[in-house]
Amino acid sequence: MQPPKCDVCVICGTRPAVTVDHVPPKGFFKGVVNAQLRTVPACWDCNNGASSDDEDVRFFISAQIGKQNPASKQLWENGAHKSILRKKTLREAFVANAREVAVVGADGSQTSRIAFHVPVATYQRVLERTTRGLYFFQCGCVLPASILVNATMLTGTPNMETEEIRMLSCENIGDGAFIYRYSILPDDPNSSFWIYEFHHAHWAIVTTGAAGE
Ligand SMILES: [Zn+2]
Repeated sequence: MQPPKCDVCVICGTRPAVTVDHVPPKGFFKGVVNAQLRTVPACWDCNNGASSDDEDVRFFISAQIGKQNPASKQLWENGAHKSILRKKTLREAFVANAREVAVVGADGSQTSRIAFHVPVATYQRVLERTTRGLYFFQCGCVLPASILVNATMLTGTPNMETEEIRMLSCENIGDGAFIYRYSILPDDPNSSFWIYEFHHAHWAIVTTGAAGE
């Protein structure tokens, strides 16, 4: 699927587009073969300045979802696991707030898992870039830089079978590695709503709208 053309970077909306950037980041698709990844016109800074953020967020998503399906296992083994070994700042951020918590299974059994905080600012930056890119990909216009983009990570599994969610447009990249559902308001195109699903196990909600709304 070819993106629409644009001379200006669709992420920052100001500098000339001299490269193409992957949204979501390419590293989120480790081990996924033949994924029709989304690419959009981007400037050098937006494309290359974000790889450290991308790597950190990939790690936290991967650590949160674990190895519960083949794709998320690949994501961990070929991506996130290597990042935490290689990247000292990421390791320190993770260790600083990780703690073991008790979990009671459905059958009453006691286990434990590691709980940790995802760095909110980094998560917000990566999902904002992704959203600005996908917004352009879907409607062919650049979301103005003044329009706020707000990303929220969901901790549980949302109910995707509601009527409201079924009304959203739905796109699937890499056989379910990343699914995005969205709606762009026809009479206020800067207002949009997005639900991101990573490996059927991690969800985020993103909204765009005028500043101060
Ligand atoms: Zn840019």
